[in-house]
Amino acid sequence: MMGIILLGPPGAGKGTQAKKLTEAFSIPQISTGDMLREAVKAGTELGKRAKSFMDAGGLVPDEVVIGIVKERLSAPDCGEGFILDGFPRTIPQAEALDRVTGELGKEIRFVLSLDVDRKELMERLCGRRTCTACGAMYHVAFHPPKAPGKCDKCGGPLIQRDDDKEETIKNRLVNYNKATAPLLDYYKGTGKIRTVMASGEIDAIYASIVKILQ
Ligand code: AMP
Repeated sequence: MMGIILLGPPGAGKGTQAKKLTEAFSIPQISTGDMLREAVKAGTELGKRAKSFMDAGGLVPDEVVIGIVKERLSAPDCGEGFILDGFPRTIPQAEALDRVTGELGKEIRFVLSLDVDRKELMERLCGRRTCTACGAMYHVAFHPPKAPGKCDKCGGPLIQRDDDKEETIKNRLVNYNKATAPLLDYYKGTGKIRTVMASGEIDAIYASIVKILQ
């Protein structure tokens, strides 16, 4: 059972690395951010509830995200493992995850802490572009698409996420430091934490993650 948590501030590369890992290890990426954005797009009750928190760069209430993750982890494709990207983000979420994995007979093997300095995070987030059709991610300077504004993979239109605007980003970083950074302490005693130096090239960072997992 390869249960993995990707921990790190917004812009640390959790989504980028998760997408590469799902292909290599054939286990699904569970991104609460992606699931919430889909719910907002589809206009479901969940989406309506989550939208205002997301637009402000705040955190969606614990019970909402815990419910989504619990349901998702119960799906058959999580049998061999899963990559949690953006969850848990608070101590109560981490406690709930411990309960849920226990109930489902699943286990977290590694907590990968992606470490990037703040200046680089801002650069990454401000230049980030996301495909509205398939979710692929680009960066105007560091990882530009072949044709401007168009996804290499599916041809879909690239946009800047609403919460990737400078003011919202600052809020997201503040919330990270306040609510999510304490998770490093939460997992410290478990022997599962591995720190990944996550500045620089995507492929080099990926290689160091694979080394840890093997
Ligand atoms: P992300 O794509 O992971 O950056 O998530 C985008 C936004 O979705 C966050 O800024 C939060 O508003 C919300 N969100 C995603 N995951 C969580 C979570 N585990 N707990 C609370 N809010 C979340």
